[in-house]
Amino acid sequence: MSLQDHLLARIAQDGPMSVADFMTDCLLHPTHGYYTTRDPLGTQGDFITAPEISQMFGELIGLSLAQSWLDQGHPPNFVLAELGPGRGTLMADILRATSRVPGFHVAAEIVLLEVSPTLRSIQAQTLKGYDPRWIDSVADLPEAPLFLIANEFFDALPIRQFQRTGNGWRERLIGAAGNALIWGLGPLAEQVALKDRLDDTKDGDVVELCAAAIPIITVIAGRIATHGGAGVIVDYGDWHSQGDTFQALRAHERADPLAVPGQADLTAHVDFEPLALATRAAGCAHSRLTPQGVFLERLGITTRAQTLSAQLDGSKRDDLIAAHRRLTHPEEMGNLFKVLGLYPSPSSPPPGLEP
Ligand code: SAH
Repeated sequence: MSLQDHLLARIAQDGPMSVADFMTDCLLHPTHGYYTTRDPLGTQGDFITAPEISQMFGELIGLSLAQSWLDQGHPPNFVLAELGPGRGTLMADILRATSRVPGFHVAAEIVLLEVSPTLRSIQAQTLKGYDPRWIDSVADLPEAPLFLIANEFFDALPIRQFQRTGNGWRERLIGAAGNALIWGLGPLAEQVALKDRLDDTKDGDVVELCAAAIPIITVIAGRIATHGGAGVIVDYGDWHSQGDTFQALRAHERADPLAVPGQADLTAHVDFEPLALATRAAGCAHSRLTPQGVFLERLGITTRAQTLSAQLDGSKRDDLIAAHRRLTHPEEMGNLFKVLGLYPSPSSPPPGLEP
């Protein structure tokens, strides 16, 4: 049975499904899911991420986390964790850049949260020699100081969409017409979680809720508040996102999310406001939401690019200059991507971020 048939059967039995249920099936279905069955990253894949663009991204984040570890009195046993590590490239760059920080590697237990068996085996390959451990849920993060990175993880979590109708909301749902998947709207209902969104929306506007992000960020913030540490969350999105940001990417092109279920990456922009609220509710501090370009510039990406390019020539040098621009320029990833830092209240945010 194809994923399309599975979705049609599910809709026939239970009625139209939420975007969240559709995303979960398309991305994580055990035999047909997009992430569970393939390596989607890189130029041959469907999309490319910052660590796959340049080693500089992971190097600078590694040094920021290591400086935070030093600033907090270099705790002798800590967890160095990543959520959704893709090919393991970012963690490998973090580890290479921090190899000369005395004591950092000895004190670190490397823990990776990953659902995809395909990507887990690629991560094992990339990180062999470092002895990482995989977990299925953030609840399995050890009770210890936590230094954590998540790049393009939260955008893959399932969202629900609601369209404002008068002073109520109708959920955007996915139904079927014959063998095709189609959009529809659920019945008008009050939504407690959207009460304060009546102030900044008008009739017809769409808002998105990512319920799955809240328990995840709550556990991370709780660990950092209790044991110390730092979290660096990087993703595209904004404070108080609005509108329909649900999108499919296939072979680096936008696709219709309903046309090729399981064959395209599905994401939504991250609304950082509820993540920040949940962080504070868990007793943890967070930084200002900072554009990725500003964050990387503060960490010295331009100096690093100059050092690296001095050792290169020809097309390798052009590639490095292009990568620097891509990661930092406001018209490329520099402004669309944002960074939120988590840290225990009495200390400072990781370098590159401001309280
Ligand atoms: N951080 C990497 C990869 C981003 S792609 C990079 O920057 O290159 C998203 C990653 O999150 C993939 O590794 C995917 O398998 C993983 N992922 C997606 N949803 C997940 C979930 N619910 N639980 C755990 N991992 C998930």
